[in-house]
Amino acid sequence: MPLRRWPGAVFAPALLVGAALPDIPLFLLTVAGEIYYRWLVAPPATNIMEYLHFNLFYNHPLWIIGHNFFHSLLIDGALLLVGLWWWKQRGSRWGMMLFWLAGSMLVHVGIDIFTHHSDGPLFLFPIDWRYRFASPISYWEPAYGGRQFAAFERALDLVLLGLLLLTYGPAVWRRYLYRR
Ligand SMILES: [Zn+2]
Repeated sequence: MPLRRWPGAVFAPALLVGAALPDIPLFLLTVAGEIYYRWLVAPPATNIMEYLHFNLFYNHPLWIIGHNFFHSLLIDGALLLVGLWWWKQRGSRWGMMLFWLAGSMLVHVGIDIFTHHSDGPLFLFPIDWRYRFASPISYWEPAYGGRQFAAFERALDLVLLGLLLLTYGPAVWRRYLYRR
């Protein structure tokens, strides 16, 4: 398994961080917005979550920048190239990590582009602050297969969990049996 080797060609921790990083600003902004409008000031709408995700998400510069910075193909692509240059030309470990981090973020954005209809990423950010690709499939909007996609996602989770158990289960079980 090349993923387990270090220092190998693929650096798995950077892949894991890169898979989640683009969505972390939205998560933090949502938590902060909930706290702000629940306890500090009167909310401008009855449903705070709807106000955050259907108004600020599209209109507030902090939300637009926060959510789309690492959802940009231009920014992630540039980071990938810088990482590659730094890694291959300078032999830097940081360059290697940046390369795999950016590569993982690009895969994340690619999946997002084809699983969002109304709220896809501004993948040309910061050059274009408006254009979103309207995919015919949405991972959540019922009008664009959101319900079927949720079922597919749950099935996929089961398959991945099964693979994980098949891959690591026997070793963990053996260690448990022959302990002491
Ligand atoms: Zn995302």
